[in-house]
Amino acid sequence: MKKVWLQTGDGNGETAITKQSFDANGSMPLSEEEKAEMLQQAEQKFVELFQIFRISLQDPNAAETPKRLAKMWVEELFRGRFSGPPKITIFPNRKGVDELIISKGIKVISVCSHHWQPIIGECSIGYLPGQYIIGLSKLTRIVDWFARRAQIQEELGEQIADFIEELIHPKALGVVITARHYCMIARGVEADDERSQMVTSVMRGLLAKDMNLRNEFLQLIRQ
Ligand SMILES: [Zn+2]
Repeated sequence: MKKVWLQTGDGNGETAITKQSFDANGSMPLSEEEKAEMLQQAEQKFVELFQIFRISLQDPNAAETPKRLAKMWVEELFRGRFSGPPKITIFPNRKGVDELIISKGIKVISVCSHHWQPIIGECSIGYLPGQYIIGLSKLTRIVDWFARRAQIQEELGEQIADFIEELIHPKALGVVITARHYCMIARGVEADDERSQMVTSVMRGLLAKDMNLRNEFLQLIRQ
């Protein structure tokens, strides 16, 4: 079980909530030493791969590529795997807001678990608050943390929804992701880059039951 820490904005201090680790996507924060070791080992393996592919490291454009690739995977594309979850501050819903709160256009940059090809898209999140509200910028951080690892889009939306649900227990929650998958564009069926997109939606609470609310949400994220 993984502990996720959050700071409550009402002065109650830190509350620990427990989450299951995200199986193949489990996050293991690295110490600086572990990270340095991982970078060095990954670079060495990329050098071996270059040899297998018969790519000369004498080529000035390739000479530093094993090092660049190691850094790219560890520090960028898989960084969510190697860091703890974002620290989230939640606030009491003092005014009793009972309307949808929506953040849309949240950038999604991920890598598919099956081919390690980029997944590039956008996420919209909407919720009807219960006792708590959450800073909109934090939704962006949550999306980024889950996205920055090898993922499948279907699970990405569910993980984001689970996390937000456990944080603020909203009355309704929707997570819609629209993304291009380069494993379908650069290989396989070689789908049209412009038109082929995958859309996944997760609807929880009232958004799963109340069709009017769901329509309102879908309309608001379309605008
Ligand atoms: Zn794929």
